[in-house]
Amino acid sequence: MLLNVLILGGSSEASALAALLVGDARFAAVLSLAGRTAQPAPSPLPSRTGGFGGAEGLADYLHTHRVEALVVATHPFAAQMRHNAVAAARLRPTPLLIVDRPAWTPQAADRWTVVPDMMAAADALGPLPRRALLTVGRQDLEPFVAAPPHAYLVRSIDPPAHLPANTELILARGPFSEADERQLMLDRKIEVLVTKNAGGAATEAKLAAARGLGLPVVMVARPALPDLTGLEAQVVADAGSALAWLVHQASSATERGV
Ligand code: NAP
Repeated sequence: MLLNVLILGGSSEASALAALLVGDARFAAVLSLAGRTAQPAPSPLPSRTGGFGGAEGLADYLHTHRVEALVVATHPFAAQMRHNAVAAARLRPTPLLIVDRPAWTPQAADRWTVVPDMMAAADALGPLPRRALLTVGRQDLEPFVAAPPHAYLVRSIDPPAHLPANTELILARGPFSEADERQLMLDRKIEVLVTKNAGGAATEAKLAAARGLGLPVVMVARPALPDLTGLEAQVVADAGSALAWLVHQASSATERGV
């Protein structure tokens, strides 16, 4: 008996889970992508692209496609989608799993200023001109457009729609090595790094490079997880644990004879 699974993707954990599920006869899994990245990594699972139309739209999808397990493996900063998934699982009761990769934590030599959001990150750069490396994602540059007089080096996967004045753009997709990150910071005379606390290994090297160079880091804290009270829901840290949860869901469904 197949368990119908919907994975909300857009993270390395979602890709890893998709790879684990390929060819597994216990599951009929679909990977959903928002469609933000022009050339996403090819999906090994059947996939769909684009929004559902809010929590109600997602609840309709869960109903129409008889989804029996909803895995929210979006990026930790994709707060709207997580919120919608939880609301949809309330509207159309569905076992829910959130894959939340561990946040980065500062080490002894780190010089982090932790801020609650991107506006506060722009403020934290202060009034005097600095050379800042921004690795915040192309959708989160707006606060810096309004934050002169800094010189920015922006790195993103796809070109941003708007760039702050006095910006150099680098288009690149991780993972990056510590040696390359260090060289980039030295070559561009970077004085401060601004990043979200995305967690994960793929983009962690910039933190080690900043540490080695004694550079300050403005670190945007994670949005809080949605309230899961009253739901059949769990939070795990990685794709392997997500697979274990799915296996448990599949055997429970088999025992119930559904
Ligand atoms: P978001 O603000 O949480 O979500 C905005 C809307 O995008 C959602 O309400 C939903 O539209 C749609 N959406 C988001 N993820 C989706 C998915 N996996 N499948 C179908 N629709 C989805 O999301 P975001 O921060 O813009 O991120 C968009 C995508 O990029 C996500 O897949 C996320 O994992 C990935 N990503 C985000 C970041 C980041 O820093 N935010 C970084 C790397 C990757 P409807 O309401 O119409 O359903």
